[in-house]
Amino acid sequence: MSATKAATVTEEPSVYQQLREHLAYLQMTAAAEHLAPVLDRALKERVSATQVLEELLGIEVEATKARRQRGRLRFARYPVHKTLAEFDFDFQPGVDRRVVAELSTLRFVEEKRNVILLGPPGVGKSHLAIALGVAATDAGYRTYFTSAADMVSALQTAHLEGTAAYRMRTYLGPSVLVIDELGYLPLDQASANWIFQVVSRRYERGSIVLTSNRGFGDWNQVFADAVVAGAIVDRLLHTATVMNIRGASYRARAYTAKQKLKGGGAMVA
Ligand code: ADP
Ligand code: MG
Repeated sequence: MSATKAATVTEEPSVYQQLREHLAYLQMTAAAEHLAPVLDRALKERVSATQVLEELLGIEVEATKARRQRGRLRFARYPVHKTLAEFDFDFQPGVDRRVVAELSTLRFVEEKRNVILLGPPGVGKSHLAIALGVAATDAGYRTYFTSAADMVSALQTAHLEGTAAYRMRTYLGPSVLVIDELGYLPLDQASANWIFQVVSRRYERGSIVLTSNRGFGDWNQVFADAVVAGAIVDRLLHTATVMNIRGASYRARAYTAKQKLKGGGAMVA
């Protein structure tokens, strides 16, 4: 402990104490924790009052930002944490890096455009969808992740309980709604209507990032009702970025690599 710090505290013990109490009352925990060292350094290095305040509040702002970011991530309910940096573009040449780079600027969120990721299982649709959502969350946007099936069943249950309007806010409020796995199971008329409700009410108000293993041509079968399917596709596609990923499954790559090694042994030797 330095002599200067002791001097601050002993010269103005009541003011120092008061300051700590103010910070505690305002729940500025990070600033409170750093108060002594910041004052200590300020005395030693003859830092101005403006600088001291800036440093102390800066510490609190950083801590608050980090806390809010964690809160937004918790709220968004991503099943796993994925980032764009973790995506191996060399493995999946079907994914255009430039398109992903453009999306990573998050202009699509600002412009309330949608992103549709289509392709067979394992090609990285969910990874990219989550990573875009996480990027938006990091940038300060409120986002929410759901599978299509979960969203439909939550809305249906809420409807039966008379709370559909309230539940709907979960899907309409966030700037980005990630809807994963549309089309894995065929949807009945009521389910299709819930999807239509969400898609049409978010239309031009907030982005949807959607993944599906079915091409648009198959959506009639997914929705059982061609008119509703058409209305959904129409709204989703208007100003959407569509990525049709045709490639190998990343999940199967370890297996494929092993097979190649086995089969290719003779050739290598
Ligand atoms: P899909 O949703 O298309 O079925 P996923 O996104 O769930 O596929 O991908 C399956 C797994 O493989 C996930 O763990 C994902 O992170 C990983 N993965 C897929 N593609 C890539 C890639 N190009 N680079 C890195 N990891 C990938
Ligand atoms: Mg998936």
